[in-house]
Amino acid sequence: MARYIGPVCKLCRREGVELFLKGERCLSAKCGVKKKNYPPGMHGKQRVKHSDYGVQLREKQKMKRVYGLLERQFRNYFLLASKSPMVTGEKLIQLLEGRLDNVVYRMGFASSRAQARQFVSHAHFSVNDKKVNLPSCQVKPEDVISVREKSRQMRAIHANLEAATQRGLPPWVAIDPEKMSGKLLRPPTREEAALPVQEKMVIELYSR
Ligand code: SF4
Repeated sequence: MARYIGPVCKLCRREGVELFLKGERCLSAKCGVKKKNYPPGMHGKQRVKHSDYGVQLREKQKMKRVYGLLERQFRNYFLLASKSPMVTGEKLIQLLEGRLDNVVYRMGFASSRAQARQFVSHAHFSVNDKKVNLPSCQVKPEDVISVREKSRQMRAIHANLEAATQRGLPPWVAIDPEKMSGKLLRPPTREEAALPVQEKMVIELYSR
């Protein structure tokens, strides 16, 4: 599946918030938003007043970029969410948070969603003991995500796990560092997902 391969700090600067797309760098003083807190480009410092549509568009772009998705993939998640009996915004977040690459990142095996996506595509993980190399695979509560036997010596995964456990892991996942595996206990709530996005605006945009 296609993915964005351009400079990612520019994406954060465009949105004016830290989207945490680069792992450890995002926590350091080298963060692009901390260094240059204005949009990229020669007119970046000019003040721009957004229309209602512009505000909604920026919120949608932000959400898409947090999860590293392109327009068509993101819109498909919206269509799925809109058919659900749940509140569309909540269901949308639940679907995005349930992606295997996101769960691997939330469990601390990867330092960013992009790295998690690469690890999953390279078949370093299994779901319920079955090899899975599809980053968009939906993880259900009680599913067990494990680092596959052949990948258990990978230094990057160990370093990520150590850093993540020191920072503290989210309450909706349980990790067993000895077995290099983790379980999704439940989907996160809207507050727990802590997204810098107003999903209501995204729904409004797609409902136009
Ligand atoms: Fe965004 Fe991370 Fe780059 Fe900062 S370092 S601008 S949070 S991707």
